[in-house]
Amino acid sequence: MSLKYAICLILLSQCAWAGDLIRLKSRTIDGAQDGLRRETPPSGKYWLVQFQEYPGARLRAELVRRGFRIIGYVPDSSLLLEAPKMADLSGLGARWTGPLDAADKLSKGLNDENSGTYLVEFHRGVNPRVARGIVRQHGFLVHETEGLIPWHLLVTGGHSALRDLAGHEEVAYIMRADPELLARKRVAGCGGPITEAGPVADYALADTGWLRDAQGNAALQYIFATMTQKLDANVARSQVERAFSEWARYTNLTFTPAQQTGAARTIDILFANGAHGDAYPFTSITSLAHTFYPAPPNPEPVAGDMHFNDAQTWGVGMNIDLFSVALHEIGHALGLAHSDAPSAVMYPYYKLSSGLTNDDIAAIQALYGTRGAQTGASDPPPPPTPPAQPTQPAPPAAPTPPTDTVAPTVAISAPAYTIVSTTNTSIAVSGTAKDNVGVTAVKWATSTGNSGTASGTSAWSATVPLLVGTNTITVRAYDAAGNSGWRSVTVVRH
Ligand SMILES: [Zn+2]
Ligand SMILES: [Zn+2]
Repeated sequence: MSLKYAICLILLSQCAWAGDLIRLKSRTIDGAQDGLRRETPPSGKYWLVQFQEYPGARLRAELVRRGFRIIGYVPDSSLLLEAPKMADLSGLGARWTGPLDAADKLSKGLNDENSGTYLVEFHRGVNPRVARGIVRQHGFLVHETEGLIPWHLLVTGGHSALRDLAGHEEVAYIMRADPELLARKRVAGCGGPITEAGPVADYALADTGWLRDAQGNAALQYIFATMTQKLDANVARSQVERAFSEWARYTNLTFTPAQQTGAARTIDILFANGAHGDAYPFTSITSLAHTFYPAPPNPEPVAGDMHFNDAQTWGVGMNIDLFSVALHEIGHALGLAHSDAPSAVMYPYYKLSSGLTNDDIAAIQALYGTRGAQTGASDPPPPPTPPAQPTQPAPPAAPTPPTDTVAPTVAISAPAYTIVSTTNTSIAVSGTAKDNVGVTAVKWATSTGNSGTASGTSAWSATVPLLVGTNTITVRAYDAAGNSGWRSVTVVRH
């Protein structure tokens, strides 16, 4: 692509912000062109509504007055609404109204993956009991992992049932589960980027970011409005600055300290407890941080601002690692949505990170270009990149021993599917296990109360007794340092 053409594309993508598009990960809907669903409101409860302009405070107040509940914001100028029985959008400048289709809720990463374990996201406000009922109705098994985002479920089940699951209007999005979510006792997630108009869910895509100059560069500022009591101020500052420079290494972004809070194109960073002046109080200990998207769509001065929950125990290199969480949140401050790739820093669950992964670098370069590519490389070349280590990191909420922290991985080769049925009183289970140091033991346990040790380690096998009904067999591999990784299989005995 020629340089001129690349710049034109960047400028075009800015012009397209006018509000004509509904940006989903699955597709882009041009509400002005697609007249099909302009007149007929959807029959279901959840409506995707595009407005003629950004849905400001007055419009949102009127929607609430008419009985709508605002579930989330969808770039460029749409809202996902929960509609009351007698819903009326007349006179509010609605340009397009339609439902989210099942295909909009299925991550592209699910196409080639048959892992059997999925992250199912529901619309905020869906009753957790209703959510569990829906996934069980399609034969999925729910894994209760501590620290999951309240509207997420971690499930195991058949790939072929995903489309039917996505057909439920309460379901917002389904993506691959990071195997770490199954292996860890406790995880920590990010609820997604936020805007003044509402939170942005993982089916939505914002691919604009901050305005660039004619050379494609974006200069941003940052300032620490309040510091945490949990860490020395200089240490906290240097960890967040290290995260800024990690993003700046790969693309045409510069970050410089600001002189005052509330300035344009300035990321205000604060540590706060509970309510702190925006619509997103830190009410739960599971909430670590949140970040406002750039302008547009957010108005200044909140655009890009990052808020950290000071009820957390912030640390360096251990729980809760400030650098790792800041690295993820800065991605939102720059305009990135969540990634569906489990290894990415921008996946919805935090992990102990040493730097960006290829997935994150590709996403940021798609927005701001490759560092130096459009500026004549006046800056020194970045130092060599350490290889990304997607399988290693632990979420910041998990304690990190100083020595071997790499958990073994387990694969179950027989049975070949994650859900099988049988009439037998037992089943032969076998597979492999790997570890950077060495697997010391492979153990199995069933949901019906049996447990034992498999024979073998790197290649293992076991005969597991079955009760009539559903038996979930969990196989866990251990190393000498006590790390463990696991996989499970569900066997229904008739
Ligand atoms: Zn996030
Ligand atoms: Zn906040």
